[in-house]
This record gives sequence, C-alpha cells and structure tokens, in this order.
Amino acid sequence: MLSKNLIAKFAEIAGKNVWTEEEDLMCYAYDASFGEMCVPEIVVKPETAEQVGRIVRLCCEENIPLVTRGAGTNLSGGTLPIKGGCVLLMSGLNKILEINTEDMYAVVQSGVITADLAMAVSAKGLLYPPDPGSMKMSTIGGNVAENAGGLRALKYGVTGDYVMGTKFFDIEGNAVIAGGKTVKMVTGFNLSGLMISSEGLLGVMTEHTLKLVPQPQASRSMLVIYDDLMKASVTVSEIIGAKITPATLELMDRFTIKTVEEGTRIGLPTDADGLLLIEVDGHPAAVEDEYAKIKEICNKLGGKVHIAETLEERDKLWEARRKALSSLARLKPTLILEDATVPRSRIPEMMQCIKDITVKYDLTVGTFGHAGDGNLHPTILTDKRNKDEMVRVEKAIDEIFASALKLEGTISGEHGIGSAKAKYLESEVGAGTIRFMKKLKDGLDPKNLLNPHKMGL
Ligand SMILES: Cc1cc2nc3c(=O)[nH]c(=O)nc-3n(C[C@H](O)[C@H](O)[C@H](O)COP(=O)(O)OP(=O)(O)OC[C@H]3O[C@@H](n4cnc5c(N)ncnc54)[C@H](O)[C@@H]3O)c2cc1C
Repeated sequence: MLSKNLIAKFAEIAGKNVWTEEEDLMCYAYDASFGEMCVPEIVVKPETAEQVGRIVRLCCEENIPLVTRGAGTNLSGGTLPIKGGCVLLMSGLNKILEINTEDMYAVVQSGVITADLAMAVSAKGLLYPPDPGSMKMSTIGGNVAENAGGLRALKYGVTGDYVMGTKFFDIEGNAVIAGGKTVKMVTGFNLSGLMISSEGLLGVMTEHTLKLVPQPQASRSMLVIYDDLMKASVTVSEIIGAKITPATLELMDRFTIKTVEEGTRIGLPTDADGLLLIEVDGHPAAVEDEYAKIKEICNKLGGKVHIAETLEERDKLWEARRKALSSLARLKPTLILEDATVPRSRIPEMMQCIKDITVKYDLTVGTFGHAGDGNLHPTILTDKRNKDEMVRVEKAIDEIFASALKLEGTISGEHGIGSAKAKYLESEVGAGTIRFMKKLKDGLDPKNLLNPHKMGL
C-alpha cells in the first residue's frame, strides 16, 4: 500500500485522476490475455505530456513499478502489473494534433484510438493503413509499443512501418525526441525504431508522427469458400507465389466459420471447411487484373468465389472477420489466442501441425488469421479451472510454437511477448540476444521499474 503522503504527490500532479480504491484498482488488474490478475496499488490518468513526465519521475524517485496502459487490449499480458505499483492510463492524451495532407503525415498523442485516427485521415482523402482487429478500442501508443499488424499488413506493412517520430519520457522523466517530420532522417540512433515493440519497457511514449499514404482508387473484396481447408491454405501460398500482393488475405477454419455465423447471422456458409477473405486494391486496371488472376487460382483449387458487389456487402465480409475472436470467446470461459507465424509458403504445413496438435491433445481450437502474411491465430477454447485440460493446453502451446520455429517462423507475428510468451523468447532469439536486450534494459532502466519482468527482463 502506498502511503497517504505519496498518494497526495500523485494527486498534486494529476488532480482527481488518481484512484486507489480496490474496486477501481481491480479494473486494471487484467488485460485481454488469459494471465492471472495482478492488482496495482495506484491508477493515474494524466491529461498532458508534462503530467506524464512528472508521474514517471515520481515513480522513479519513489521506486514504484510503472505499467503504461493504452486500452489494455493486448493479448500477451503486457499490461499486467506483475509487481503492483502504478498503472498509468494514456487515455487522457487523446488528441489528433495535426493531419498534414501536403507532406502526408499525422501527429497524434499516444492515447488516440486507432479507428479515430483512421477516420479523421480518411476524411482528408488519405489512408493510415495499420488496422488491427481491435482498432475500435486500441490506442496508437499501444499499437507502436506492440508493433501491431492488421488486416492490411500483407500489402501495407505494420504499425512500425508508419512511425516517423516518437516523443517519450525515459524512467528519470527526461523528455526524448526521436525522429520527426521529414521522409529522410538519420540523426543519431534510431530511437523511434527502438520504441517500436518496446512493450512499455524502455519509456513512456506521449506523441507520434505517423506516415500517411494516398487512398487506393479502387478495390475488390471477395469471399472464397472451400470444402477442404488445406486447399484454402494452398491457395494462399499460390497467390503469393504468383507475385500478387492483395491488401488482405484472411483465412478461417470450419469451427470459426460456424461460430461466427451462429453469433452474427451474417450469412457465412456453415458447411464450408474453410474460407478466404481477399481484398485487392490500387489502380482500377491493376485491381481488375489481380482479381482475374486470383479468381483463376481459387477456382483451380476448388474455391467458390463470391464478389462483394456493394459497400454494404464488403462491410459485412470484414465484420465477419473482425467478429472471429469475440464470437469464439462466447463459447468457453477461457480463450487463449496464439499468433504463431510462418513464412507464407509454409502455411499449409503449419495448418496441418495445428490440426494434428488439436487432435493429439483433444482440445477445442478455432484457427483464423492473416494467412497472407503467414500469421495464424490458433485459438484454444478452454476453462482455466479445469486443471487436467490446462496441462494439455500448455503442452499444445509448447508444440505450436516449436512447430512454428521448426518451419522458420516466429512465436509472435503481432501480439508481442509480454508475460505470456516470455518463457519461449530465448528459443527463438538465443541467449546472446537476451543478454543484449537485458543490457539495454539495465542501462535505460537500472531499477527495473518500467513494466518489470515482461519479456522475462
Ligand atoms: C479483439 C481483438 C483483436 C485484435 N486484433 C489484433 C490485430 O489484428 N493485430 C494486432 O497486432 N493485435 C491485435 N490485437 C491485440 C491488441 O489490440 C494490440 O496489441 C494493440 O496494439 C494493443 O493496444 P492497446 O492500446 O490496447 O495497448 P495496451 O494493451 O494497453 O498495451 C500494450 C503494451 O504497450 C505498452 N504501452 C501502451 N501504451 C504505451 C505508451 N504510450 N508508451 C509506452 N508503452 C505503451 C503497454 O505497457 C503494454 O506493454 C487484438 C486484440 C483484441 C482484443
């Protein structure tokens, strides 16, 4: 418990936006991961960057662990206050400061909701491409800290590809300015790059300059239905192998299709074994050309192609994909969403591994994901009170990651490491890399106050 004197110091900085009652603290003891709850000692919501700096400095002086929280939608236990301490809410820094259409960038505070930025930019005829499935809730700061991907990542890349600059505070409360507004900038270390995927371990970000791109002139969305999931997986690698880069190429297995349809009544084919959602965009002529080639590949592999003829139909298709996680979450008390990712050509092998592991451990697993970039989300439905099943779940997760690494993939395509995947990190990057990261962390945060123990650091 923090002393009254210390709580008063927080209140001096953030006024009424300081909470210490148990019922308030409990709201920040969890995130979207399935990890155990960890209750903080204090929750603070600053409204200016200056207040952020002062809170960070106070935590440093008083040795209080500090967990920065955007919307808490991360799936890797990144915002669990493992050591108690202070949860710093970024939702008060929610202003879009500038949208520059001439130089095509936006300057935003870290607590801005991703979808709000996307809409504001779109109203000016530009595109902010990163579109995580959580974009209606997640924040730009959280997206940068996790290097979030999205449905368009295949063609447009991930959040990190759009970060031109970031302002943040180090653990002593010093203001650091990284990057800026020019397309080219090589001044000093690439500190904005360092903050990408930093998961709240290296500093507290308050502001970002983000690259924007022109809106595509045309697009075509299609739903492709298969009676064999493996054929859908092979289609993914054939499309990529044909040197076509759709904006989006998403896959869903039978279990996920059925669950989404039961929850949404969108009209998905519940007798299908798998489906692909594909969108191509760009110059109208290129769109037609790519669409024709994709249709040919799909048909060759037995896929039945349905085109979205209207904007409403297109929205319905994407709604189906965006509802995948929430629909699965209704089925059982505990949902464990993994993001094992492999090189695209190895998707069929990875899908087979997931199928085999599901049978071997007798588990309920729905798989969907951004198949075009190799990023699959095998989603295990379980109940963490069922000890026997949890032992099998743990073994299954170990095998899913081992399979992804064997196929030259990664343990995380977009959800980060946090606390959930810390134990697997060394198996992917090796002991030397862990040592390097630890030295970096020790140098920047010698008292280990910034999101301690995440990534095992
Ligand atoms: C339904 C659903 C769908 C999802 N779909 C996707 C998807 O398609 N792609 C994807 O990549 N992820 C997805 N996610 C995961 C999640 O939304 C992303 O990881 C997102 O980037 C987290 O943003 P957030 O604002 O909620 O951050 P939080 O969960 O609050 O924080 C995430 C991490 O960032 C740190 N952090 C947050 N803000 C700051 C800051 N200002 N400075 C320093 N560190 C900070 C935190 O300490 C923590 O370590 C999904 C999650 C859900 C629930």
